Amino acid sequence: MTENFTLLFLAAFTLTLATRLWLKLRQIRHVGAHRAAVPAEFAARITLASHQKAADYTVDRCQTAISAILVDAVLLLAFTLGGGLAALHGLWSAHLDGIAYGLAMIFSVLLISALADLPLSLYSQFVVEARHGFNRMTPALFVSDLGKQTLLGIAIGTPVIAAVLWLMGAMGEYWWLWVWLFWSGFNLLMLFIYPTWIAPLFNKFEPLPEGDAKTRIEALLARCGFRSNGLFVMDGSKRSAHGNAYFTGFGDNKRIVFFDTLLARLSPGEIEAVLAHELGHFRKKHIVQRIVLMFAGSLAFLWLLGQLIDAPWFYAGLGVPARDTALALILFFLVVPVFVFPLTPLSSHWSRRHEFEADAYAAAHADAGELARALVKLYDDNAATLTPDPLHSLFHDSHPPAAQRIAQLQRQEQPA
Ligand SMILES: [Zn+2]
Repeated sequence: MTENFTLLFLAAFTLTLATRLWLKLRQIRHVGAHRAAVPAEFAARITLASHQKAADYTVDRCQTAISAILVDAVLLLAFTLGGGLAALHGLWSAHLDGIAYGLAMIFSVLLISALADLPLSLYSQFVVEARHGFNRMTPALFVSDLGKQTLLGIAIGTPVIAAVLWLMGAMGEYWWLWVWLFWSGFNLLMLFIYPTWIAPLFNKFEPLPEGDAKTRIEALLARCGFRSNGLFVMDGSKRSAHGNAYFTGFGDNKRIVFFDTLLARLSPGEIEAVLAHELGHFRKKHIVQRIVLMFAGSLAFLWLLGQLIDAPWFYAGLGVPARDTALALILFFLVVPVFVFPLTPLSSHWSRRHEFEADAYAAAHADAGELARALVKLYDDNAATLTPDPLHSLFHDSHPPAAQRIAQLQRQEQPA
């Protein structure tokens, strides 16, 4: 059984790795092949220079992604069959036991993974993003973000991981159900406190100033019967030139947040249309569906871990000569992505369907033409490619290709 599981893991690992690399290479080739001309349907609105900038940016990002995929793959093999976890276990179990040992194991793995990813995240921010004019982050801000994220991770992670390890040890056969209840409660709490307690540690949020945009947004909210705890502008320009708008929190704690970069670029009518799209996600219950799916998924995975936790082949097959709850958690989170990768197109498809529904909602409650104009501007500003590889898109694109979204909006555009 042990050898069979090792072989199964290696087969899934190889297949996932090869598919991920192949998709990135396809994307690079496809974008390169369409670099010479702006697609006909955008020719009036996007310049050739912009189109080529988007192509170069996409190719650069794919190359960085290929390096990141390779780093992840090496790290996964090093932790498992390469003996990394076995070595960490030898080191910590000689000095610690119980929950202290579990925390030391889990934080060691997190620290090593973060250190391995650091060079590429520096490269991506200060070389790739900078080369294409998107980086607004200073090295000092990068260090301060990293410091805050680490402290926050330790402050929140320590009690949460300790509680999970304790439940796993103390709750008997149905520990996975207890861990799930705890985990779901923790996630709901985070959704609730994130906008007011955590996001302000990283960004400034100011009320949306009075003006045409605010008047139109308030009229739209009233028209759609939507109440929120405020409209805010976030200083996204502190880190990046990319623009966005989003909802955070839920219940009466809902906030609507616009990046300052988005407000600077769009006209009031376009801002209204973008917000109508976001309201569409809310009204069509996409956010609730996502949360429910996340909870159902974590229940299924915890149940599965409950089945594996006492199986000697699960540990030995992945190169770990010992068995305990911390090792079970670590191994599970390391290897699950390898096995669930083939499901990626399903979740991306689901997400793209939601985008179409939100666009349709926006077309019904605001102006489809304004939304189409805003989308073209956002694609252009963000140097998002208009010519993605169809297979890469099928796996990885949470949003439908620009041409499809705009074609749908044009069908729905009200004749004036
Ligand atoms: Zn959307």
